[in-house]
Amino acid sequence: MSFRKITSALALTLGLAFLAPFTGSATAATPAPAPVAVRTIYYDATQAQEFKAAVDEGAEAWNKAVPTISLKPATAGQATIRVYADNGWPRTMSQGFGRATIYMGREAVNDGFYPPRIAAHELGHALGLPDNRNGRCDYLMSGHSSPTSCKVTAPHATEAAQVKRNAGGFLSTTFTRQLQYTDCFKF
Ligand SMILES: [Zn+2]
Repeated sequence: MSFRKITSALALTLGLAFLAPFTGSATAATPAPAPVAVRTIYYDATQAQEFKAAVDEGAEAWNKAVPTISLKPATAGQATIRVYADNGWPRTMSQGFGRATIYMGREAVNDGFYPPRIAAHELGHALGLPDNRNGRCDYLMSGHSSPTSCKVTAPHATEAAQVKRNAGGFLSTTFTRQLQYTDCFKF
């Protein structure tokens, strides 16, 4: 390390040491509630064709259930979740918390499943939830085990709680291996 680098590092340390008591006393004088860190996750549903509104609805359902996350439509190139439409089965390839490629497959829609619920389910994978085929309509991750008549888009409290934990650092944003969820709504 050069002398110049050492002196600038020292100056930075001293500077921070000087600032610390000031910020500390300001906080002590006016106690404020602990800020809630909101994790903004950008998604791109512009390629989701006829399912774009369904994806927006699914995203809103998650935002409402988990106040510490904010799924927002992306502008220019910032999306970490991309949603497409095709004629296959709905599926998600996840590369980390809030990082995924989703296909809104038409097979499940043709079978009668409700598109906003499919979107909310696939977004659940993008937020780190596995499939949970417990047959219950009040769980999003039950997928095809719940009846096609089920139109619930809100996650169950336990699903919301897990996503909150995932967002809080329980789950990495970069998996070493891609996770594939392909049998979501397939009988
Ligand atoms: Zn699934």
